[in-house]
Amino acid sequence: MAGLEPGGIHHRIFKELGVELPEATFCDPACAVFLPGESEPINVWRDRQKWQAERLRQFPGSEKFWALLQTLFDASWKFQARDPVVPPRNIWDMTKLVQALRIDTLVTVPFTLMTMLDAMKLCGVANDLRLKTFLDLQLKLYSQVDTSETALLYGATALAVSQMPQGLFHLQGSMQTLSEKLIEALEKHGGKLLIRHHVKEINLGEDKSKLTVFNQRKSDIIEEKFDHVVANTTVQDLIKLVENPPPSIFSQSYQNRVENLTDPSGAFVIYLGVKREAIPEDCSPHLQFLYDPKKEIGENNSLFVSVSKTNDGRAPEGFATIIASSFVDADPWFEEGYEARKEKYTKEAIAHLSSYFDLSPENIIVQEAGTPRTFARYTARKKGFVGGVGQRVSTFAPFGLATRTPFKHVWLVGDSVHPGEGTAGVSYSALTAIRQIEASQK
Ligand SMILES: Cc1cc2nc3c(=O)[nH]c(=O)nc-3n(C[C@H](O)[C@H](O)[C@H](O)COP(=O)(O)OP(=O)(O)OC[C@H]3O[C@@H](n4cnc5c(N)ncnc54)[C@H](O)[C@@H]3O)c2cc1C
Repeated sequence: MAGLEPGGIHHRIFKELGVELPEATFCDPACAVFLPGESEPINVWRDRQKWQAERLRQFPGSEKFWALLQTLFDASWKFQARDPVVPPRNIWDMTKLVQALRIDTLVTVPFTLMTMLDAMKLCGVANDLRLKTFLDLQLKLYSQVDTSETALLYGATALAVSQMPQGLFHLQGSMQTLSEKLIEALEKHGGKLLIRHHVKEINLGEDKSKLTVFNQRKSDIIEEKFDHVVANTTVQDLIKLVENPPPSIFSQSYQNRVENLTDPSGAFVIYLGVKREAIPEDCSPHLQFLYDPKKEIGENNSLFVSVSKTNDGRAPEGFATIIASSFVDADPWFEEGYEARKEKYTKEAIAHLSSYFDLSPENIIVQEAGTPRTFARYTARKKGFVGGVGQRVSTFAPFGLATRTPFKHVWLVGDSVHPGEGTAGVSYSALTAIRQIEASQK
C-alpha cells in the first residue's frame, strides 16, 4: 500500500479524521521481479541510490531514460502534492488546478501526449527487451496496460512511488485493517455503514433526487432522498445506476464516452495457506514472475505474488499465506465451462508457483480461488472488472474521468477517476470530491 508516509494521502486522511494509522512496515524491496528463465530477481529497492545502482546493473545504458523518469516524477509529484483538481470541470476546479501549477510543472508539458515506449525511443533504449519486459510487467500492475500504451507521466509516477521518501507498505494484519480503520473513522464522525445493502437506482427525476436501496437481509426496498451521492462504483456501473438524468449534451457525451471505453481486465487470484517451509528463506513479500516470454502478460503467464511475513497477522506460527494474481479477460468467465476453467487456472497457477515455492500437496493447507465471477458477486463491479479505466494517454489525468460527473450532486470516486487505482489513488479522488462538495455549499 502506498501513501502511509507523512504527507502521504492515507496519512493525511487519518490525521484529519483523528484516527491512528494502521500499523505497517516498509516493503524493501517493493517488488522482486523474475524475468523468464532467470533465477536472480530485479529488486526494486526502497533506497533511491540502491535502486539506481540495481537498475543500471540490470539494464546497462539506460541512465538517460531513468533520469528522464525521475525529472518527470519530481515535477508531477510536487504538482500533485498541491492538490490540483484534475481534470477540471468548472471554474472552481480550474482555479485549484492553476493554483497548483509552478514553473517546474512546465517541464512535464511536452511529455503529456507521450507513452512510456515513446520515452524509451527518445532515450535510445526501445530495443532493450529485458528493460521493456520489466517495465511491461510493472506497469501492467498499475496502469492495466504496457509500455506501448501507458501514459508517460503516469508511468513515471507509478514506477517511482516505491522509493523514499514515499514507498510501499506492508500492513500488519492484512489490507482489511485499512477498511477497519476507515470504518472506525466513519463511526467516530457519526457516519453509518450499511452492509448487504445494494443501491439499485440513483433517480434524478423532477420530483426530487432519490436513491433506491435494496436491503439484502430483509429483502425490502428503501427509498432515500439525498443532497449528494458519492459513488465508488466503476464508471460503467454508475451510468447504469443513474435514472432520469436531465437531458444535456454533457450527460449524453459522458454516457457515449463510457460506453466506448475499452473493457478493463478481470483478475484470477489464488489464495494459499501453506506450511512455512514452502517459502524460500530469502523470499521478498512481493514478487512478480513472467513465465513464457513468447506469450502475453496476464492469463496466468505472469503472476503478482504477496507472501506473508512471520508474525504479520496473516497466518499462525509455522504457516504462511501466498496470494497470487493475474489479469485475465473477464468475458470467458461468464460463459459455459466455468468450473473447468477455474480448475485449469488453479492447477496452472500452482504449477507455475512451484518453480519458486515448495508447493508439494502436504505443504498446502488452505486453497481458494477468486475469479471475475467472484469479484462480480462480492464487489458488484460489472463483470468483476478491476483496475479502473486504464492509464492510456486518452484516459489519464487531463483526459481522464473526473470526480465531478455531469449528473448534478452525483460524484464519482474510486479507481475509474483520476489518479486511478490503488488504495492511495482512490483515497485521493475521495478527498478531491469532498473538497468540491464543501466548496459547492459555500
Ligand atoms: C487482486 C487485487 C489486488 C490488489 N492489491 C492491491 C494492493 O496491494 N494495494 C493497493 O493499494 N491496491 C490493490 N488493489 C487495488 C485496489 O483494491 C483498488 O484500487 C481499490 O479497491 C478500488 O477502490 P474503489 O473504492 O474504487 O472500489 P471497490 O474497492 O470495488 O469498492 C467499491 C465498493 O462499493 C460497493 N458497491 C458497488 N456497487 C454498489 C451498489 N450498487 N450498492 C452498494 N454498494 C456497492 C462494493 O461492494 C465495494 O465494497 C488490488 C486489486 C486487486 C483486484
